[in-house]
Amino acid sequence: MYPNDSLNNWHSGQGLWADVPAATWNDWKWQLKNRITSLEQLEEHLELSADERAGCLFAKDKLALAITPYFFNLIDHDDPNDPVRRQVVPRAGEMHTAPEELLDPVGEENTKPVDGIVHRYPDRVLFLVTDRCASYCRYCTRSRLVSNAQDYNFHPEFESGLEYIRTHPEIRDVLLSGGDPLLLSDRKLDYLLGELRKIPHVEFIRIGSRIPVFLPQRITPELCEIFKKHGPIWLSIHVNHPNECSHALRDTCERLSFAGVPIGNQSVLLKDVNDDAEVMKSLIHRLLMMRVRPYYLYQCDLITGSAHLRADARKGIEIMRALRGHTTGYAIPQFVIDAPGGGGKIPINPEYVKEVTDTEIIMQNFQGNEYRYPLIDAAQQAIDPEAPKLEPILT
Ligand SMILES: *Cc1c(COP(=O)(O)O)cnc(C)c1O
Repeated sequence: MYPNDSLNNWHSGQGLWADVPAATWNDWKWQLKNRITSLEQLEEHLELSADERAGCLFAKDKLALAITPYFFNLIDHDDPNDPVRRQVVPRAGEMHTAPEELLDPVGEENTKPVDGIVHRYPDRVLFLVTDRCASYCRYCTRSRLVSNAQDYNFHPEFESGLEYIRTHPEIRDVLLSGGDPLLLSDRKLDYLLGELRKIPHVEFIRIGSRIPVFLPQRITPELCEIFKKHGPIWLSIHVNHPNECSHALRDTCERLSFAGVPIGNQSVLLKDVNDDAEVMKSLIHRLLMMRVRPYYLYQCDLITGSAHLRADARKGIEIMRALRGHTTGYAIPQFVIDAPGGGGKIPINPEYVKEVTDTEIIMQNFQGNEYRYPLIDAAQQAIDPEAPKLEPILT
């Protein structure tokens, strides 16, 4: 299906907006102003199914509809199941709540010491700085507050968040998220990153953003200068399908990399989008070509109205098995489930360890062949029968 990942296969054009001058097209404010945000606008450009039409009508009460012209152009109009389309065009499935689904699927509201801060792990916090995005992913785990369709009325509290971080010396790692932090003005980002840099115990600063994917024009030379000034700033982007790897995204990742920003990618495993080993392999290979290191592959959270988009977790394990050994470890993300209710991210791996006995680890390689590796106890006992033994471990 994806026999050739060479650059000349990557999406490049302005498509529907071919008559818009390049300077206008490349202006991120024009892209935001010209987003598709209503059923009527969407129908002007795309023939919708009844399923999609119903979803669009419901969106204003769940999670707003918004698609940048740039991202919209990545959709193949002739394919009703286009993988880019499925991520951003609402469908009727959003109206149904499966029994296990929740508005706050990973329990963020339970670990919120002040508004906008989620402090779940010992050394790091999530700092939510806006509720807006350039486009809205229909499976958004934070749809309770993002786009404010459900009247959450999130107010970014920069000062109380910063004060919480300043007064908690155990926080060595801050993750800016939202909404999309890169929708903030350069001035606000400069201020926030500057304030975080002043805190002596904050060692690691990163931003979670889909802006490079939805609105690559936002990554201006001025913004890159801000990252350089406060660096190292790490960035986690969110690419799900090889069709999102356009020339524009590649150029953007290059600008970021040259500004000293290391980039990781977080994908969400989505039904009929990327729950396929060949699609995933093509995606991660393209990411490497863009200097992006695949970081996490998430099992989709149990967010209300997502059943039609969630892939079977067993599919994720199968994909991981198809990757390990078949491509470089640099390309392989960690598959995780963010535990329902708030247990944090738990790695889910294919089983390579078959058994741990008193004397050895029995394991399987990527081809299914069995190998054995002796435990240190057994080796030491052979030399010195008095040597202490390690506690047995359970597998
Ligand atoms: C994902 C997440 C983080 C960051 O986790 P990493 O494994 O360091 O990427 C931090 N806080 C919360 C609440 C998270 O959900």
